[in-house]
Amino acid sequence: MSDNKKCPMCGKKIDEKFKPFCSKRCADLDLYKWLNGNYAIATDEFISNDNDLNEENQ
Ligand SMILES: [Zn+2]
Repeated sequence: MSDNKKCPMCGKKIDEKFKPFCSKRCADLDLYKWLNGNYAIATDEFISNDNDLNEENQ
């Protein structure tokens, strides 16, 4: 079923234990990237939304 799928992080063969990744390392790496990206986007949106609101109110 998942014969053609590869690890999205490094392109290696997926390990059933760490789907959809090839290893715990790649799974952790993806989670870390996701959390970091989320943080950066959330902070960015918070700042620009705050500025927009202030400008519209004045
Ligand atoms: Zn991998």
